[in-house]
Amino acid sequence: MNFIIDIATLTSVSSLFYTVMLVILFVFRRQNKDLDMILWWCGFPFFRLINSLISSDSIQYNNDIYIYIGNISVILSDIMLMIGCYKFSNLKIRWPLIFVFLLSFIALSIYQYNIGADLSQRSQGFVYFALIPVILSTYALSLLPNKEYLIEKFFTIFWIIFQVGIFAFWTIINFNFLNGDYEQALIFSLALSYLSHIFITLGLIILTIARKRNELTQESRIHKKLAASLNDVLVKAQAANNEKNAFLANMSHELRTPLNTIIGFSESLKLEYYGTLNEKQKEYLGYINGGGEYLLRLVADLLHLSKIEEGKIDIILENINLNKLINQTLPLLNEIIIGEDNNIILIDNVGLSSPKITTINIDKIRVKQILINLVSNAVKYGNEKSSVTLTIDDLDATFFRFSVSDQGDGIEKSQYKNIFKPFNRAGKKNSNIEGVGIGLSISKQLIEDMNGKIDFKSEVGVGSCFWIDIPKTPQRSLPIGAAK
Ligand code: ADP
Repeated sequence: MNFIIDIATLTSVSSLFYTVMLVILFVFRRQNKDLDMILWWCGFPFFRLINSLISSDSIQYNNDIYIYIGNISVILSDIMLMIGCYKFSNLKIRWPLIFVFLLSFIALSIYQYNIGADLSQRSQGFVYFALIPVILSTYALSLLPNKEYLIEKFFTIFWIIFQVGIFAFWTIINFNFLNGDYEQALIFSLALSYLSHIFITLGLIILTIARKRNELTQESRIHKKLAASLNDVLVKAQAANNEKNAFLANMSHELRTPLNTIIGFSESLKLEYYGTLNEKQKEYLGYINGGGEYLLRLVADLLHLSKIEEGKIDIILENINLNKLINQTLPLLNEIIIGEDNNIILIDNVGLSSPKITTINIDKIRVKQILINLVSNAVKYGNEKSSVTLTIDDLDATFFRFSVSDQGDGIEKSQYKNIFKPFNRAGKKNSNIEGVGIGLSISKQLIEDMNGKIDFKSEVGVGSCFWIDIPKTPQRSLPIGAAK
């Protein structure tokens, strides 16, 4: 079979492929802006495309000037390939040498054009120049580590060497070592050359993908290491925290016994069981007793906090009538209010005694504990004339809201973030109001364990309002049709 390749078809088809490759590389470049070598690699199919467009037109092809322009664009395309490979392998690029190289080729082309060099002379000059950047590209890629780029590297190098082989073949033809139909041999080798360009471009694409893959692998390795060391730190912190909690629990137990002794004996002395006392003695015993009580409360709070942190506090949720809870809790809260005639102002926005009132699902001891803490704070941080208000609202289908408000000094905005932090007194550290800053953090943990919420609003000089949202007993949905 007489198989003849037509040069115009060959160059048109390869132009199409170069365009496709150029578009793919360009899209890659847009998506990976950090890999600037891709832009240089875009130059490879681009200048090849120019050459094949020039060669596809037989009128141009037979015109010397276009052949020279085509040759220069091939050299440019190989230079672009080389720069990209150098950048990819992190090698130093010697720009002056590259410029001298390019200018020399242009000068040679001008000279050959002027003397009207024949095809053989032209081709020899072109092949020798084209070989240099192609061989240097192979060298740059050969330095890539096999471990990370094995397949991609050898795939690309194979096609570059293939191209070198074609150049060698052209040199042989030019020296007239072959007998026979040169033109067909040239066109056939040209077809292979175009094929190798397409595979070289494919190689460049898979190399950039490999670079991204390696970056991701490295990142994930770093993340794994980081996660492992974080885990270590977490385990250590957990262990330290457990030790701290155990220490707190032990100390609290140890402190409670002598404290109870101090409180008990000072109480009985004050009551004059063992003989009468003068006023001064009574006053001082009052201080001893009060101090003891305060320390005992503090120790109890510390113990509580350490138990909460260890998850040792049992929350027993039960359905309780809201009215009943208030009736039981109000007297306790009123006891905290200073001054015998003063009482908590109760604002009932839900109709507490209504028979339809929904029950709440809480641990009532814990809710009382939280309310006592909120009311104690309202008393402590409210000024002398301040009244304390407890408001009960039907918030929505899920919660009732209990708000405790006072007309105290309020809280500075900058301290909002510290309010629920344990042992943080939110700027009141140096005030003469007693406290260690754990009441609200305990309250927060307790209410959250009951599926509720705690929050506050405050205005300096106007007062504060702390509230807890208490979950209602979930309503069982009626079967369809039962509501008629
Ligand atoms: P303590 O009262 O022992 O300091 P809390 O945890 O109960 O601890 O409160 C933390 C901090 O929140 C208090 O030190 C205080 O600065 C601020 N705070 C709490 N309640 C009020 C309130 N009603 N008015 C103003 N500040 C308050």
